[in-house]
Amino acid sequence: MEKLILIKYGELTTKKGNRNLFIKTLTKNIEEMLQNYDVNIIKNRVRMFIEVKDQKFDEVVKQLQKVFGLHSIVICEKVNTKDIEELKKIAFKMLKQETFDTFKVVTDRADKTYPIKSMEVSRQIGGYLLKYLDHKKVDIHHPQLTLHIEIRTDGTYFYTKEVEGIGGYPVGIQGKGMLMLSGGIDSPVAGYLALKRGVQIECIYFDSPPHTSMEAKNKVLTLASLLNQYSGHMKVHVIPFTKLQEAIFKNCDPTYMITIMRRMMYRITERLAKKRNCKIIINGESIGQVASQTLTSMSVINEVTNMPVIRPVACMDKLEIIRMSEKIGTYETSILPFEDCCTIFVPKHPVIYPDLKKAKEMETTFDYESLIQECIQNVETISNFEEETSDLL
Ligand code: ATP
Ligand code: MG
Repeated sequence: MEKLILIKYGELTTKKGNRNLFIKTLTKNIEEMLQNYDVNIIKNRVRMFIEVKDQKFDEVVKQLQKVFGLHSIVICEKVNTKDIEELKKIAFKMLKQETFDTFKVVTDRADKTYPIKSMEVSRQIGGYLLKYLDHKKVDIHHPQLTLHIEIRTDGTYFYTKEVEGIGGYPVGIQGKGMLMLSGGIDSPVAGYLALKRGVQIECIYFDSPPHTSMEAKNKVLTLASLLNQYSGHMKVHVIPFTKLQEAIFKNCDPTYMITIMRRMMYRITERLAKKRNCKIIINGESIGQVASQTLTSMSVINEVTNMPVIRPVACMDKLEIIRMSEKIGTYETSILPFEDCCTIFVPKHPVIYPDLKKAKEMETTFDYESLIQECIQNVETISNFEEETSDLL
């Protein structure tokens, strides 16, 4: 018997045309995720098997649970025989070690040349187990234990436990997007959801020292490193935003400050996104959450770009977003109390229904274009998270 990991692919069935790209990208991502383990990946069109030579099965499964595109992860036992009498004995040996009262056997006959039909295999092996295991019952609908048997061309696979994968598409299959990452709760969740749809992300953060602290920046880097666990290759582009923000503060009506600041953020994000080959902008805006996220505000802000802006949490309740951030492990960091640049300059009464014409007029009062260029020229790009944030994690 050989112990190995079997992987069932995620949403592959709905994407027949992309099968090869899906498997290729997924394999690459798994290889990267498991680079510190001694493993061998064997793949075919419907399944992937991973031999774990160093026997660190639990750790490897944990790592695999962070790879998008996996439907489930199974630790299975492979035998080379398909002889039904042998299979009965192996099934008996496996189940003897388990604690349960009720069970069922499910067989998948992938090898169509195998002479016994799946149902019949299940019936025969189930009957044998019933006879030789003490006090066990078959329960078809709610068994405490399910023994899966897959009869494949190269042998027979047995397993009883299936660990859920995180689903989605392999990261990178959809190209790249630029995530506007702040230190809050929403944008890391937005980033996670974009990664889940296969979008590789780079992050942009608007930093306004000394109005915002080093801690606020480090918090964003920590969040990026947490997202990096799901994707690898993460980059954070830190934009020195102070001068532009002060110019807005000096020249614009306080009630429009946030509107104009966010228009500038979008402009800068779009330019950097194009430069970095990103096809979309992603952010953590959620309808109605704050003044800048009313539909009117969003449309006035969005007016500066033609690039698609994806807002994965737009229609989620704050509580749903919080729950998700807890699940993905970003919540604890997000709630650390460091000011971000939006809260420092927040006016008492930001406009809730801004007028596009007014916003445009205010923007004519100062030379924002050269300030935007300066922001982009002086961007600081950080890509090595283990080093940058190891003391914070
Ligand atoms: P979050 O919880 O993600 O901070 P929020 O509820 O605080 O969001 P806003 O501050 O209005 O909402 O920001 C909306 C979105 O704009 C954020 O989710 C993020 O995508 C982006 N954003 C805001 N501030 C910054 C910043 N300093 N750098 C980069 N992106 C930002
Ligand atoms: Mg915020």
